[in-house]
Amino acid sequence: MKSLNRIEISRAALIHNFELCRRLAGNAALIAMVKADAYGHGMIECARIFSEQGAAALGVAEAVEGLRLREAGLKLPILVLAGIIPQTLPAILAAGLTPVVVDPSILAELSGLARRNQVKVGLHLKLDAGMGRQGTLPEDFIALVQNVHSYDNLRLEGVMAHFPLADDRFSENSVKVLKIFKETAAAFANLNPKACPLHLANSGGLLYVPGSGFDMVRPGLALYGYYPDGSNGRAAASPPLLQRVMRFSSRVIQLRRVPAGYNLGYGHLFTTTRPSTIAVLPVGYDNGYLRCLTNKAQVLIHGRRFPVVGRISMNLTLIDVTGFDGICVGDEVVLMGQQDNEMISADEIAAWMDTISYEVLCLFGNLNERELVD
Ligand SMILES: *Cc1c(COP(=O)(O)O)cnc(C)c1O
Repeated sequence: MKSLNRIEISRAALIHNFELCRRLAGNAALIAMVKADAYGHGMIECARIFSEQGAAALGVAEAVEGLRLREAGLKLPILVLAGIIPQTLPAILAAGLTPVVVDPSILAELSGLARRNQVKVGLHLKLDAGMGRQGTLPEDFIALVQNVHSYDNLRLEGVMAHFPLADDRFSENSVKVLKIFKETAAAFANLNPKACPLHLANSGGLLYVPGSGFDMVRPGLALYGYYPDGSNGRAAASPPLLQRVMRFSSRVIQLRRVPAGYNLGYGHLFTTTRPSTIAVLPVGYDNGYLRCLTNKAQVLIHGRRFPVVGRISMNLTLIDVTGFDGICVGDEVVLMGQQDNEMISADEIAAWMDTISYEVLCLFGNLNERELVD
């Protein structure tokens, strides 16, 4: 039996977005970012679709995600972006994953293990070109490349950096990061006769930073149908629009009439001002519909917007549907996505929650039963 709360993932929208990203990428190959269970969209299913559509590689955060992809039969190169430490190396080698090395400290151990396993290991290096998170500073990067070259069983297969502010389509920082990345790449080009692929652009880079495509691009959010600046695509008139992939729905489980001046739910955070009709939903913060949406969010029923009233509980939420006849127990309620001609986007919910669409998608997608549709 299935939950009354349902996440639908549109295969057609995933394919549309992949195609759009590929067109925007021009000659650059696509590394499809599927970390965090594909931002809540289901890592295995999404990876299969992106692989069929021609992705050059997949990107995950931790090695354990890469193992799951291998167990599911995915054959593409898989970049592991985080957690390249002695404890994860044996599994990385055994599954043929591609580690992203952030500094020289792991190289001797990696090479030693490669020798014992009688394999050559391909790796990517991460330059910190201004992100200020992981990676090696530009002034130390040439030495890092030389260090890799000093091991004959380690093969440099890529050099990457990451944008910190590419969600802002007018950020001057992105121009600066692009320049540092180019200059550093030029400085080690002569060390590197078989020029290894360079990659810098996330979705923001791909959509907003001209010239950041290089040899590969690493979109995540755009594949799932959202613009990193939260614009919902409105400001991006010229490129064709991304399509939202995830839809979150629930059902009305009770309809009740309560008098004026009646207090609703934990903490009595809402008091009716008129005789009211309240629809009860079997959804709450356990489903990622967080308490900060209390008295703020709206939902769609029969294609119309209705407000959330009172505190969101672990598994219950109240909706004020006063004055609207025709709603029945069992009717579909859309928390995110389209219903008839109305739509609530992850960007709109993110604004109510004071966060970004990424977080909304991860929460909803990873805390509820998903179903691939279309
Ligand atoms: C998550 C991630 C991406 C994808 O970012 P989006 O903004 O979702 O496109 C790209 N590169 C790295 C290093 C990442 O961690």
